[in-house]
Amino acid sequence: MADSRVRLVCPLCDAVVSDGPPPAPGACPGCGARFVGDGESAPAAVEQGLSELSVDGVGAQELVNALFTVSPERCRKLGVTIASDEREGFYRWWLFLAAGRDARDQLETLLAESCK
Ligand SMILES: [Zn+2]
Repeated sequence: MADSRVRLVCPLCDAVVSDGPPPAPGACPGCGARFVGDGESAPAAVEQGLSELSVDGVGAQELVNALFTVSPERCRKLGVTIASDEREGFYRWWLFLAAGRDARDQLETLLAESCK
């Protein structure tokens, strides 16, 4: 079915993570970044992502605000970005975290940047 086709591209390295089947949380085949979420909105994806990463004490709404106020270039440098996939008629959101770093550190660094 054509309308079940989903395309998700890693915002950190531009590798195609999925092109066809709906992606499941996992690691980017290009850079190894973890991606979590699968939310119908950015806040839903972040909330879902935080629970999958077992990071508590980080406010989902604060994090969403940070993701949309810190420049995309800076977010990529910090290794925390949010992206939507592409599918027929709608899309879902994913939180990407660069490989090899502590998730909480990454998120707290981003939050600190957004407060400047
Ligand atoms: Zn990647």
